[in-house]
Amino acid sequence: MKKKLEFTYYPNPILRQKCAPIVDFNDEIKSIAAEMIEKMHEHKGIGLAGPQVGLNQRIIVIEPTPGEPKVLLNPEITASSKDWQIGEEGCLSFPRIYGLVPRAKSITVRYQDLDGKKHKLKANKLLAVVLAHEIDHLNQILFIDRFIKVNQGEEDLKKLLKESKEKINLYE
Ligand SMILES: [Zn+2]
Repeated sequence: MKKKLEFTYYPNPILRQKCAPIVDFNDEIKSIAAEMIEKMHEHKGIGLAGPQVGLNQRIIVIEPTPGEPKVLLNPEITASSKDWQIGEEGCLSFPRIYGLVPRAKSITVRYQDLDGKKHKLKANKLLAVVLAHEIDHLNQILFIDRFIKVNQGEEDLKKLLKESKEKINLYE
C-alpha cells in the first residue's frame, strides 16, 4: 500500500508541475515526512521538497543544523528583507552542479506543522537560504532560474538544459 518515494532529477517534468496544498494532517503525511527526512539524510542534503521525491504536494523538510530536522507544510514567505546575501547553492535534483544565488538576508515564513497547527518563523542567513530554496521548489522555481554564476558542473548543466528544452539564462 505504501508507495516508496523515489528521487526525481532535472529535467523530470514533475519539478515544473504545480503543487497542491496539504489539507489532511493524517498518518500518511507523517510517514511521508519521516521518509523524506530519511532520504535527505541518505543524500546528505539540508533540505528536500515534495517534487524532488515525486510528490506534487506542498511539503518540505529542512535540516540546516545537524540533528534538528524540521517539517513544514504549506510554507509561504510572507516577508523578505531588502538586503541580500549571495551564496553557493547545490540541489539534490541537480547532482554535482553548484552556483551562486542571491537571496533575501532574512525572511518570514508561515507554515503548518504535521498536526495542522499554524506557525510563523523568522529566518536569516543559512536558514533563510534553505527555506527560500525549498519553498521555490513548491512554486516550480529551480535554483538554476536564479543563478548569477555557475561554479561547478557547467557542462553537465548545459547538457541537461538542452535535454529539457528550457530556455534559461544562467547569468542573469
Ligand atoms: Zn533544490
